[in-house]
Amino acid sequence: MADSMPSSPASPVGTLELGLCSTFPLPQPVFLEKGNTSVRLPSLALACEGAEALAAGANYIKLSGRVEQKKAADKLKSPEKPSSEMPDPQRGKGDWGKPKAAPRMQFPDSPLFRRWGKDLTEDQQIAAQELFTKYGYNVYLSDRLPLDRPLKDTRPPRCLKKEYSHDLPMLSVILIFFNEATSIILRAITSIINRTPSHLLKEIILIDDFSSNEELKGPLEDYIDNVNVKHPGLLKIVRHRERKGLTEARISGWKAARADVVAILDAHIEVNSEWAEPILSRIKEDHTVIISPVFDNIHFDDFQLTQYAEAADGFDWALWCLYESIPEDWYALKDQTAPIRSPSIMGILAADREFLGKIGVLDGGMHIYGGENVELGIRAWQCGGRVEVLPCSRIAHLERAHKPYLLDLSLAMKRNALRVAEVWMDEYKSMVYYAWNIPLENSGIDYGDVSSRKELRKRLNCKSFDWYIKNVYPNLVPQITIVGYGTMKNTLSENHCIDQGPVPGNTPIMYNCHGYSPQHMFYHSTGELFVGGLRSRRNTVDRCLTDSGKGQLPVIEQCDEATRKEQNMHWDFIQGSSIINRKTKRCLEIVKYHGSPYYTLVMQNCTGQKWFIQHIVKQWGQQEKGGG
Ligand code: UDP
Ligand code: MN
Repeated sequence: MADSMPSSPASPVGTLELGLCSTFPLPQPVFLEKGNTSVRLPSLALACEGAEALAAGANYIKLSGRVEQKKAADKLKSPEKPSSEMPDPQRGKGDWGKPKAAPRMQFPDSPLFRRWGKDLTEDQQIAAQELFTKYGYNVYLSDRLPLDRPLKDTRPPRCLKKEYSHDLPMLSVILIFFNEATSIILRAITSIINRTPSHLLKEIILIDDFSSNEELKGPLEDYIDNVNVKHPGLLKIVRHRERKGLTEARISGWKAARADVVAILDAHIEVNSEWAEPILSRIKEDHTVIISPVFDNIHFDDFQLTQYAEAADGFDWALWCLYESIPEDWYALKDQTAPIRSPSIMGILAADREFLGKIGVLDGGMHIYGGENVELGIRAWQCGGRVEVLPCSRIAHLERAHKPYLLDLSLAMKRNALRVAEVWMDEYKSMVYYAWNIPLENSGIDYGDVSSRKELRKRLNCKSFDWYIKNVYPNLVPQITIVGYGTMKNTLSENHCIDQGPVPGNTPIMYNCHGYSPQHMFYHSTGELFVGGLRSRRNTVDRCLTDSGKGQLPVIEQCDEATRKEQNMHWDFIQGSSIINRKTKRCLEIVKYHGSPYYTLVMQNCTGQKWFIQHIVKQWGQQEKGGG
């Protein structure tokens, strides 16, 4: 039955169950609202996609044939001039620069070869693809680019005229990694050495989160020793004895750091011109600011740089990070260089070392990936600090095509999100449960011990999440009237769920239950019925089920439009009852037309069909009709 369903575009990908801020392009254009104008970000700017897609993307190729292997030792020669010694950029040119008879494409479906590598021989393609599968970015090319390659200066022009005091606090830069390519890490180090004034750079601390790559062991240490000959004590390395995940890696970096200010970065970055000075002078002014630089995107395939628009960092109720519009008062300043007040951070951060420690660094109970950035954002604000994005501090960040270390990010993310909800979100914590479609009681998810984080909150006398929402993140809209949520099934058919249907499009359908966000419904005590996940941010409108009163199909409309146009968007429903439109009095029902094996979702005179929604809030609908 499942195989013979009509092909539904109701794929879980790219609708609402968004992934991380640094992976794939969204299938739909993404807009940032600036005042009244929509600004389209560069295509990868939000780069959020379902974890399911990551899982699919990570596995799509089987390799065959001989694979080029370079000796680690070759790569890790003397760092005296880290720039040109390794790897040899000239070699690259020879490899793919000359036009030859076009080689056969070995991996026509691989994202690596969509716009890169047309001239590679078959063996080279195989080598490049194997590295790509292993790392999620083009290591074949990285190994052939200079370590000190120039980067376009992406700062707003006024930043270039800024003068920074010579007398700034010193900086420890922390690079965390788990099985990143060596040339990537060395390029990060090189950019930091070349683009940070030496009197401000105390140290670069590498945190190895128990990588298995051999070349990240002895050969990397040789490189470090060589750099330290020229710059005594500059490079340090701390190695985890077991894999701890990125949050603990960042904490280890903070623990090892000695300078007044820490910048905790991913290892696949290149810092841009004068990136450190804005951070250090801002922290000198106010040591309670947690800072995010602006990220530009290094393409995972050709390593070109795309400049991103400045934005604030926010999140949705699932706690996936996303870009937010810049607050109006920033525009009023008419100063492109001014700090942007931000509800949260993306991950990479800079802070006063002591202040970060005082407010609890990061939540060491987080696993592998995700949520730690939002936790810090909320905590900073609620506990006496603030978060800002600095337009003049730019870091080029390589957005991987897939994350080799975790096929399904959502598992770690969901668990970590519950820690944040339980510790910081008070009466709003149910929003996180709704967004992840998990029951409020007995969720079955072990989010670990949060008692020490709760104590921290008490000790620091932190403000409430209600204060945070109202004062810091009014764009995040709580949905306090939800009384039922999850998938919705009709008693006539156990295997089918209401699904938002093709996107773009506004006709809901019945589809095999898969339980991803296109099938997440939210019934409100007001009678509204949201379809296809929770957006719940101002300017990012939820979608409501309506009955136009005409024709036989129900219609999905943006809820704000539906309200404005007074569309029939209110429904009577309790668990196990019909779904009746309050205005038209028609019922949402399912029918099989003309002997078709498939159900169609229709509006018709009520025949007494019954519906169930997956989860209910408290005792809703069990005693009285209509909810409260
Ligand atoms: N990382 C780590 N341990 C892990 C997973 C990731 O140390 O278990 C490192 C990784 O090498 C990278 C940083 O954490 O330098 C952030 O990870 P990633 O870039 O995948 O996350 P994103 O950029 O999407 O936030
Ligand atoms: Mn990253």
